[in-house]
Amino acid sequence: MTVAPAEPIIDVHELRKIYSTGSVAVEALRGVSLQIDEGEYVAITGPSGSGKSTLMHILGCLDVLTSGSYRLAGEDVADLDEEELAEIRNRRIGFVFQQFNLLAGMSALRNVELPLVYAGIARSERRDRAADALARVGLADRLDHTPGELSGGQQQRVAVARALVTDPAMILADEPTGNLDSHATRDVLALLDELREQGRTIVLITHEAEVASRAQRTVRVLDGLIQDQLAAAT
Ligand code: ADP
Ligand code: MG
Repeated sequence: MTVAPAEPIIDVHELRKIYSTGSVAVEALRGVSLQIDEGEYVAITGPSGSGKSTLMHILGCLDVLTSGSYRLAGEDVADLDEEELAEIRNRRIGFVFQQFNLLAGMSALRNVELPLVYAGIARSERRDRAADALARVGLADRLDHTPGELSGGQQQRVAVARALVTDPAMILADEPTGNLDSHATRDVLALLDELREQGRTIVLITHEAEVASRAQRTVRVLDGLIQDQLAAAT
């Protein structure tokens, strides 16, 4: 008996994304094909405007593709309705953004609890898991601080705690170190290394070569295409 190789967690084929704003259409992705295996740490690099964030939004089921296909953990994303997509986002994917995206009026603990609120987890378990996630990012002594009372690096660590509290298979990070100094950048990259060692798939978007060098593989996006595909097409 032969064992079929595991399906990639991300399997994108001929992906196109067109934004139509008024009379202008921008083709942000022009036929991207990409496979990422479970447990891989992949950096997506490329200059500003090349389509990196657009790709991340589609990979994270935050936006829909215009044409092509996307299978996530073996499921065709096009077949899923809004509720199923929200469920995938909440259970399988942890997001980290450049701007941290924390709720200003809430404590670190409450911010990290939020994905568990959406998942319908009871309050006492939520508290325990959120406190545990904050301890894992080195913020056990900052549970009651609001984002305004934390440094940028600490805010991003809260965001990493929020991303991992649901125990997701995949972490998508879009320029997570873009607003951080070199010290905080090191902290956040070390956290991502740890998550990778736990077997999670990590997709890290960055335009900094040094940050990308932490990943096992780098995929370069240029003008809406992956670079080797661009080379092959010309
Ligand atoms: P990157 O993250 O690599 O800087 P983006 O994916 O944000 O690139 O943008 C790719 C292209 O798509 C750019 O030309 C950008 O102006 C355009 N774009 C991105 N988001 C939108 C949007 N919501 N509406 C219209 N155009 C957009
Ligand atoms: Mg971007």
